[in-house]
Amino acid sequence: MNKKFVGAHTSASGGVFNAVLNAQAIGAKAFALFTKNQKRWEAKPLDTATIDKFKKTLHESGILPKHVLPHDSYLINLGHPEDEKREKSMAAFLDEVQRCDLLGLDRLNFHPGSHLKKITEDACLDKIAEAMNRTIDKTKNVSLVLENTAGQGSNLGWRFEHLAYIIDKIEDKSRVGVCIDTCHMFTAGYDIRTREAYDKTWAEFEKVVGFKYLMGMHINDSKPDLGSRVDRHDSLGKGKIGLDAFRFIMNDERMDDIPLVLETIDETIWKQEIELLYSFIE
Ligand SMILES: [Zn+2]
Ligand SMILES: [Zn+2]
Repeated sequence: MNKKFVGAHTSASGGVFNAVLNAQAIGAKAFALFTKNQKRWEAKPLDTATIDKFKKTLHESGILPKHVLPHDSYLINLGHPEDEKREKSMAAFLDEVQRCDLLGLDRLNFHPGSHLKKITEDACLDKIAEAMNRTIDKTKNVSLVLENTAGQGSNLGWRFEHLAYIIDKIEDKSRVGVCIDTCHMFTAGYDIRTREAYDKTWAEFEKVVGFKYLMGMHINDSKPDLGSRVDRHDSLGKGKIGLDAFRFIMNDERMDDIPLVLETIDETIWKQEIELLYSFIE
């Protein structure tokens, strides 16, 4: 039986329910969305009509809440070295988690944070974990899903050890997960292009982080090379990773029952990319 749930990060423009309709239109069985404008700090609270419409549309689509992977605003940096800016990030993050809960969603994907070259890596990771613990204390139902990064600039979370370090400091481990982005993984230096490299990389992931924390994936090819530490996605098969890695994923039961979300650069071919991924299942 097919237990893969593939989709894309669809537009919620005009209302969060549109992300569901846009996912359905491309044959997606999962999707990601922003529950607010991702480039702004402020957001209008979700009203009852909007919440009800989203829940109704989602129910009618047959997509389960656990196969929806909301993404937070790009402005948020829980590891910000300056207290005032970190407080602003934490307030916005709390709002994001509460929005997910109101929409009946159980996970929120976010980038761990950046030290901006002003504090050490460990100090930044400590701040991220502390911010997560504080957020968990004030909320319910929603797991905080750390995304691995490409390690561009001073972004942390590109090494599996960074993710493990943070998870280790989370008091309620039932509320923490990880999302692995294949482009970020590759440009961070983790090869998945051949069977051998794929097996080695995921064995390391299991050893350092653990598959029990894997709550979603971003399925992207990569424009830059292995280990370049640059975050630039490409369409499947057009970049430096190539199609084999995605074939391995589609036949790997460790990626069953989690949202597998395209963030590839040409949304006009998402429908074909989803079909391509499903065609890989042996
Ligand atoms: Zn991603
Ligand atoms: Zn990226």
